Amino acid sequence: MKYKRILLKLSGEALMGEQQYGIDSDRLMQYSQEIKEVAALGVEVAVVIGGGNIFRGVQAEQVGLDRVQGDYMGMLATVINSMALQSALEKLGVYTRLLSGLNIQQVCEPYIRRRAVRHLEKGRVVIFGAGTGNPYFTTDSAASLRAIEIEADVVLKGTRVDGIYSADPEKDPNAIFYSNISFKDVFEKGLNVMDMTAFTLCKENGLPIIVFDMNTAGNLKRLVQGEKIGTLVTM
Ligand code: UDP
Repeated sequence: MKYKRILLKLSGEALMGEQQYGIDSDRLMQYSQEIKEVAALGVEVAVVIGGGNIFRGVQAEQVGLDRVQGDYMGMLATVINSMALQSALEKLGVYTRLLSGLNIQQVCEPYIRRRAVRHLEKGRVVIFGAGTGNPYFTTDSAASLRAIEIEADVVLKGTRVDGIYSADPEKDPNAIFYSNISFKDVFEKGLNVMDMTAFTLCKENGLPIIVFDMNTAGNLKRLVQGEKIGTLVTM
């Protein structure tokens, strides 16, 4: 196995599938199946899932609500998605634990780093809900932060595109695909991999990022087994 401990970041939007809002059950089951297969290989799997399919902090500002309140609403949206993922995984017989950055003790454990690591060592899939627990951050930042804290080998950012391009491949036919790229080049070329806070956290802590297509069945498994899939960002 190329990676022993991974942090998988999934966006909330990806969970919508073809829908305009909410959770698509087929997509949820597909992701759960992929996670199950990887966990069955003995890889320690932590997951951070976004909330964009339900609510984002910036939406609050657009309708005249307080930004910070909106961010907490967004964090709660990630908890809803995390609960759905937990339930789907458990239906497949995968042992999971949901650890939240906000205290919601009836439905999840509080985030405690040592506890998260212990769960991983015991082979449980750990889902980190509620982002970092702080407003003005994103779940990409939560993914980077938690990955560093638990000493994950890599952050795997599952998207609907197959990696990083010099331009948006859906708009520019001349966009160049990067199979490997350095943090420095991503920064200098102004490429959009993660938001700057998330990206800087990875860069400063030497944590590699792989951006890959999560919607192609089997990609996650092939990736952890060492196949060259997506774009690897390293020092
Ligand atoms: N959020 C936050 N702090 C965090 C993580 C998330 O305030 O540490 C809020 C923020 O408002 C964000 C929303 O939760 O817009 C949903 O997360 P995100 O936009 O990252 O979800 P994704 O785009 O991955 O679906």
